[in-house]
Amino acid sequence: MREECGVVAVCRKEQPAAGLVHRGLFALQHRGQEGAGIATWDADGMHFLKGRGLVAESLPTYKVERLTGNMGIGHVRYSTVPSDRTENIQPFVATLPFGHMAIGHNGNLKNQAALQRDLESRGSLISTSMDTELMVHLMARSGADSLETALHFMASRVQGAYSLVILLEGRLFALRDPCGIRPLVLGQTGDGFVAASETCALDALDAKYIGEVTPGELVEITPNGFRRTLLLEPGPLAPCVFELVYFARPNSVVFGQAVQSARVRMGQQLAIGDAEEGLSARPDIVVPVPDSGVPAAIGYSRESGIPLEMAILRSHYVGRTFILPDQDSRTHSIRLKLSVVREMVEGKRVLLVDDSIVRGNTSRKIVQMVREAGAREVWLRVASPALGWPCYLGIDTPSYGELIINRHTSVAEVERSLCADNLRYLSVDALKQATSNASFCFGCMTGDYPV
Ligand code: AMP
Repeated sequence: MREECGVVAVCRKEQPAAGLVHRGLFALQHRGQEGAGIATWDADGMHFLKGRGLVAESLPTYKVERLTGNMGIGHVRYSTVPSDRTENIQPFVATLPFGHMAIGHNGNLKNQAALQRDLESRGSLISTSMDTELMVHLMARSGADSLETALHFMASRVQGAYSLVILLEGRLFALRDPCGIRPLVLGQTGDGFVAASETCALDALDAKYIGEVTPGELVEITPNGFRRTLLLEPGPLAPCVFELVYFARPNSVVFGQAVQSARVRMGQQLAIGDAEEGLSARPDIVVPVPDSGVPAAIGYSRESGIPLEMAILRSHYVGRTFILPDQDSRTHSIRLKLSVVREMVEGKRVLLVDDSIVRGNTSRKIVQMVREAGAREVWLRVASPALGWPCYLGIDTPSYGELIINRHTSVAEVERSLCADNLRYLSVDALKQATSNASFCFGCMTGDYPV
């Protein structure tokens, strides 16, 4: 099971933490819509609440208010397969030799299957399909009498991405894997300290951004500040570039980069690429595929001087289409989610900008809708390179054979399959330029994985 998730941890001096954790989860809802949970701790022990669906459905305020304690963690979960297994919802709660623990995990382990076989052969009873549980079993089997030693043991056996928040009997921690694959940031509120997947959660809590949990770092979050230790030797550094392309909220700062600005630069790079290669004609308008294509379309329009028109509207009442089980229901719901403003595109040469193409269903449908609305030509620009490899590290991309680029032998063939008049992807080099040439994992675009 592949997962994309969001985590938050809050420690306050005296006030209950649950309300702030709840608010943080609302701000991280884009990172997972399948389930959500909160765990808090006080003198009476661990309290937790979990449920399926969106935060508003799964964690109603009147129930959250019953979670007492001034420290807590929260998690939103998203997986490829819509699952009715409530036990897969985090935080995962367990009793270890060194205490009662709740853990929230964003990321994915590459060696999950081998770990599971090994643990089961030694008698571990695994009760969920989450790799997070395997991490907890490893910690339990470590023989360690402290969290730090147990984490060290676990980290020496797992390969992959993990940004963790951990609540252990009145102590609160955040840990990021040595490659720093998923984001994790620290902040300060009026009366305490927090960690969260993205800075948009800090904004929702009125918290000041302090910086990132660095790769390999274990941070203890106390009511008076952070205790920081480099627990795991860092490297090779490989934050996920797809966080900047698509996954993170545009108002977040991720891996030290403002997401909106990075996406605008991706769009500018697309326009620069077009200008260098030369176009057969000049498009009349640049139209973003909402919401994820908007920043790149702004960048394309600014760089090229071609006017930006919001000619595709998105309904805010229809959920994400990506995880619906079959192609037919996905195709239909795209029509419910997006509509084209006919008079804006009629008779025009339209250049559509989207952030990425995965299976190609969305793009094919949108190209068709814009054409049906009367566009003379429909060009497509994609603000990321072709996605040709599945992600094993926490982004939900489908198998190799489902990725549209692998179903065709060339970009020209993909262009025909999407019925676009003209298709161009961002090159890996241009994406590197747009993201300040920082060291990233480009695994889904190049097949080179850091672990
Ligand atoms: P499709 O090509 O129809 O499979 O869907 C591609 C669109 O889904 C992209 O334009 C993105 O906006 C969005 N998308 C890309 N990757 C993901 C993902 N891992 N989870 C959810 N949505 C995604």
